[in-house]
Amino acid sequence: MNNSIVNVPIPINEPIKEYKNNSPEKESVLKEYKKLRNSKTDVKLWIGGKFIESSKTASMSPPHDHKHILGKYYLAEKKHVELAIKSALDAKENWSNMRWEERASIFLKAAELVAGPYRDKINAATMLAQSKTIFQAEIDAACELIDFLKFNVYSMQHIYSQQPKSDPGLWNQLGYRPLEGFVYAVTPFNFTAISGNLPGSAAMMGNTVVWKPSDHQIYSAKVVIDVFKEAGLPDGVINAVYGDPEMITNTILESKHFAGIHFTGSTSVFKGLWKKIGANIENYNSYPRIVGETGGKDFIIAHNSANVDEFVTAVIRGAFEFQGQKCSAASRIYLPKSISKVFYEKLKSEISKIKMGSPEDFKNFMTAVIHENSFDKLAGVIEKVKSDTDAEILIGGGYDKSKGYFIEPTVIKTSNAKYYSMETELFGPLVTIYEYDDKDWNKTLNLVDETSEYALTGAIFCDDRYVLSEAVDKLKNCAGNFYINDKCTGAVVGQQPFGGARGSGTNDKAGSYLNLLRWVSPRLIKEVFVPPKDFKYPFMG
Ligand code: NAD
Repeated sequence: MNNSIVNVPIPINEPIKEYKNNSPEKESVLKEYKKLRNSKTDVKLWIGGKFIESSKTASMSPPHDHKHILGKYYLAEKKHVELAIKSALDAKENWSNMRWEERASIFLKAAELVAGPYRDKINAATMLAQSKTIFQAEIDAACELIDFLKFNVYSMQHIYSQQPKSDPGLWNQLGYRPLEGFVYAVTPFNFTAISGNLPGSAAMMGNTVVWKPSDHQIYSAKVVIDVFKEAGLPDGVINAVYGDPEMITNTILESKHFAGIHFTGSTSVFKGLWKKIGANIENYNSYPRIVGETGGKDFIIAHNSANVDEFVTAVIRGAFEFQGQKCSAASRIYLPKSISKVFYEKLKSEISKIKMGSPEDFKNFMTAVIHENSFDKLAGVIEKVKSDTDAEILIGGGYDKSKGYFIEPTVIKTSNAKYYSMETELFGPLVTIYEYDDKDWNKTLNLVDETSEYALTGAIFCDDRYVLSEAVDKLKNCAGNFYINDKCTGAVVGQQPFGGARGSGTNDKAGSYLNLLRWVSPRLIKEVFVPPKDFKYPFMG
């Protein structure tokens, strides 16, 4: 056995492939896309390392082509969830006793599998299942997942190496035990990388996990499962169940061995989970760790010193990439009156160049929203704006679900700074602009702070350094990720640890050591080399 003190490889961010016309990577991913589109995939429950069927299934379709069937997935019954809990508990001892370097190797291998042999598959699956353009799939399913895996391994070593000091004659050692019991990971539809990271990061720290992916991401979650399996993750370390979220969650939360939840999704669901955990608190062996990254109502505020071209680009990319379905998507904009004319001209002209359709056509900047419920909700908001007196549709506003769930990039203008669409997370390609008088800059900063329950991301465009530094300070509680002269999306693992406070979550910064700390329960061991043999102290003499 290797008994040296090793160093894990120093991670670097995965380079983003460009998929330019006639490039080999474009040809290769499109070939995989067509292959997957023209075949059928069955996704079985993954419990104790086995793929298990149940009596009920549901079908999977691309949001941009909802009549096409990609395959089906099996819905868990209560007995499957109970089996998944048992498998996680049974796997715990061997897994947590395994040397951490072995665990690191498994996840580093997973990263290399995604970077190499699985790259096309995980990207194509994400394009099909979640309607991402190739660029959005590449930065998520390939690059971010690889980065999560590699940087977390690096942080794991960093955590284990943090040790207390020891006075002469004794030795203090801090051990980083995994939590007692099992961890429940609940993941959203919008990032394949998050689906791998939430169960993966807890498992990396020696925990075993029951994982419930979103019904709308199961197709690409299966690729993540195949990667973990091929990387050598032992049976039962991660167990995946799909289906009724209430039944699955209630079954999990009934277990006294429930040790923590790693959640990403909407604020209302997270609050419901927190309440249920609170109501069950007497039943658990330990206080469960509750980690949730949730919704956002992310802002961009421009000062009149802003460069309008840069500001417009940030609004378009921030609001419309992946159809605005990022927790960090720009959805409320504060525009100074003095630059509004030139801003609107530029915005209209740029949005008119946006193409929307299937991700198979690389000219498209946008594709469809995730499902019919989301489409209907967004179409309803557009109709509401049309009938309201304090808001109007400035650009876009069209929608069509005949083939896929397509909503045009839509700009709403409001005269009411607290208008519904300035406050509520809509999760679609809708952005609302509020114009302010230049002289009201300070009042507008207050508005940014006070509007909406969230505090996830935000951005400021400003070329006046005095104004900027004051504003950055004033807006310090409005966003966990704050951007200066940049869009408010696109955080990179290892560079911009991600998460927000207030209604946006527990701000445990996915992809950083701060998050991994939530999955360990430190134990201090103090050893005294020559213990005293007399109870009396000198002062008593
Ligand atoms: P969602 O809340 O609908 O679903 C998230 C997960 O919770 C899914 O697995 C879902 O099946 C499950 N779920 C739904 N109802 C449940 C219930 N009653 N009990 C238990 N589990 C339940 O969210 P979504 O539509 O998949 O994702 C979009 C949301 O996620 C947005 O609000 C977005 O802001 C948020 N999000 C946040 C971050 C972040 O880092 N802050 C990142 C990505 C997404």
